[in-house]
Amino acid sequence: MLASSKLSELFEDFLKTSADRSGSPIYRGRISQLISSEGKSLVVDFGDLLKYDDDLANTLLLRPDTALPSFRTAAFETMRSENALYADRVKRDLMVRIRGIPDQVPLRRVDTSYLDKMLSVTGMVVRTSELRPLMTTAAWTCPSGHLTYQDQDDLPLKRPPKCDLCDEARNFELDRKQSKFIDFQILRIQELPEELPPGQLPQFFDVNVEGDIVNAARPGDRVVLTGIVRAVPDYTVGQIKTRLFRSQIDCNQVDVKGKEPEQVQVTKEDETLIKGIAASPDAYEKLVSSIAPAILGHLSEKEAILLLLAGSSSTVLPDGTKLRGDINVLFVGDPGVAKSEMLKFAAQVAPRGIFASGRGSTAAGLSAAVIREKNVLMLEAGVTVLADQGIAAIDEFDKMKPEDRTALHEQMEQNTVTIAKGGIYATLNARTAILAACNPILGRYNPYQNLTDNISTLPIPLLTRFDLIFVIKDQPQPSEDEKLASHILSVHARKSYAAPPPIEFSLLKKYISYAKKISPTLSPEAVARLKDYYLDLRKRSSGEEGQIPATPRTLESMIRIATARARMLLREEVTEDDALAAVALMNRMVEDVLTDATTKKPDFGIQMGKPAGETTKLKAAMEILRALEGSERKPVERKTLKDELMKAKFTDEDAEKVIRTMFREGLAYESPKPGFIRTVRS
Ligand code: ADP
Ligand code: MG
Repeated sequence: MLASSKLSELFEDFLKTSADRSGSPIYRGRISQLISSEGKSLVVDFGDLLKYDDDLANTLLLRPDTALPSFRTAAFETMRSENALYADRVKRDLMVRIRGIPDQVPLRRVDTSYLDKMLSVTGMVVRTSELRPLMTTAAWTCPSGHLTYQDQDDLPLKRPPKCDLCDEARNFELDRKQSKFIDFQILRIQELPEELPPGQLPQFFDVNVEGDIVNAARPGDRVVLTGIVRAVPDYTVGQIKTRLFRSQIDCNQVDVKGKEPEQVQVTKEDETLIKGIAASPDAYEKLVSSIAPAILGHLSEKEAILLLLAGSSSTVLPDGTKLRGDINVLFVGDPGVAKSEMLKFAAQVAPRGIFASGRGSTAAGLSAAVIREKNVLMLEAGVTVLADQGIAAIDEFDKMKPEDRTALHEQMEQNTVTIAKGGIYATLNARTAILAACNPILGRYNPYQNLTDNISTLPIPLLTRFDLIFVIKDQPQPSEDEKLASHILSVHARKSYAAPPPIEFSLLKKYISYAKKISPTLSPEAVARLKDYYLDLRKRSSGEEGQIPATPRTLESMIRIATARARMLLREEVTEDDALAAVALMNRMVEDVLTDATTKKPDFGIQMGKPAGETTKLKAAMEILRALEGSERKPVERKTLKDELMKAKFTDEDAEKVIRTMFREGLAYESPKPGFIRTVRS
């Protein structure tokens, strides 16, 4: 161990002599840069220090409270030799910040053995507080008006033992204006979701950040952080009340990791395996059946999950418009059809994924929240922000909190979450694909009612944000039941999959992260297929009165789906086959949910909240109105129309509603004579 007195000297020598490969001095260069950019933080790469003297480097890690101040003195001296004026100006705020300590300690393993030592951890920022001024030096005046400065390092405010001039203990008063402050912020970091052992509470630490690195990280950011672990008492007016302390990290340096999700490690051998799978003729079937291999059947759902995991790349147009690349999928289904199981699998196999329940377990829920803790305002990230650039599997989607409903509209289309509350206004990135599941309100899905009647607790505009919606019905069918029963029994008997998946779990994870790097482009054949289908769908879904046709959103969804399939097969080009697969999935959705329960025609109004048979009701009502008008087109009294409607088995409520719909859809209008209605005829 090095003697403290020698430390400053050694650090100064290190700063002055360290040179890069070409021989130019690294830290002298950085210090000149600091001076010209008016910076206050000298960032030192730990590797350079190790190279210079590993004893010195280790002293820094083991005794940071002695070594860091020496390092600061050394930095100050070195700076003074460059520019004494500037050095004196920033002396108080000059910081040495250490980055690149090898052996990052997982948050879970940070324990008391690290107390008061310097270490590097990785984690995710889950909350950040507002900035508060923290006093570093307090100025005290004695009754005779003399100023005495007292440096502060602990939480309780320290008074000087005696006045500098009177040389005796006096009754001091704080002079706030002469005191010195520094920016202060609290972060909370938590284990990365994908590193969290299942069923465990995520480990987290509150981190104190000071100086020019405040606001360097936002909630949802993945960071590498250098800091010193502390045990802090809970103060009650300067007195320590219990022997139970809190742990906390004093942050020395925080680096936000690259914006790209760190990819799962894919070795050369893995790459060969991955390419081998993609080259096999039944590659796609293999991939689909490797999703949730413990679950029998549900192939379309598994295919949808696979494509959601792959996603497509988001496109930014020259004018800055962003086209979303994520695919959002919703499963509505009877209880016990393995929805939750499939969601859990998806969250685990995704290179970055979180499984959550719509009820949410934290204040931040699915979006973000502003909370006040010990009188400090904090912005806390919720599930979709934490899963930025990954997937969020949200079970019991219909049970989500009202705040989340509004936030998700924005999240699912704009890929951001905005929060404006308690004086905090912030926009956080949430480029997250949503895989959601919910149960029908009455327990079971009623096929004679439309989607929104079945899940009426779900906010309707949200439904339009889903690229694919599937209904999973649990219908007893002797042959299928037998298969499922034997499947489940054999899984339990063997304590393993009934049949091993074609691609095992960890390879599939690597496969997905490998595939996500590809950005395929549409081939002319794929374009033709998608266009034909869309135009046909548009034709089939229009023509009837009140029927709402497919919108360009549908076309965009299909492009995303086809592109994701090409990605999964490691192709640079979206082929006709990809387009056909997208058509098939879209068709399944049209049949499952977008077909009017009464007319049996595709109606995209259903996704926008049109209840069962409204189309039919509107059509019937219009016929009644026309009949009443007769060929001379006499205005019809509203009351007469209503009576007729009631005769045709409309309820009072329904009749009122259908008349309103007529006006809204521009099929009828109130004639100049009050209380009379006329149809609009072309
Ligand atoms: P849900 O969320 O749809 O209500 P769960 O995911 O909780 O249903 O599934 C209930 C149980 O039934 C799980 O243990 C699941 O493994 C089993 N199960 C249901 N359907 C299947 C299936 N097709 N194959 C294998 N297991 C199934
Ligand atoms: Mg469930």
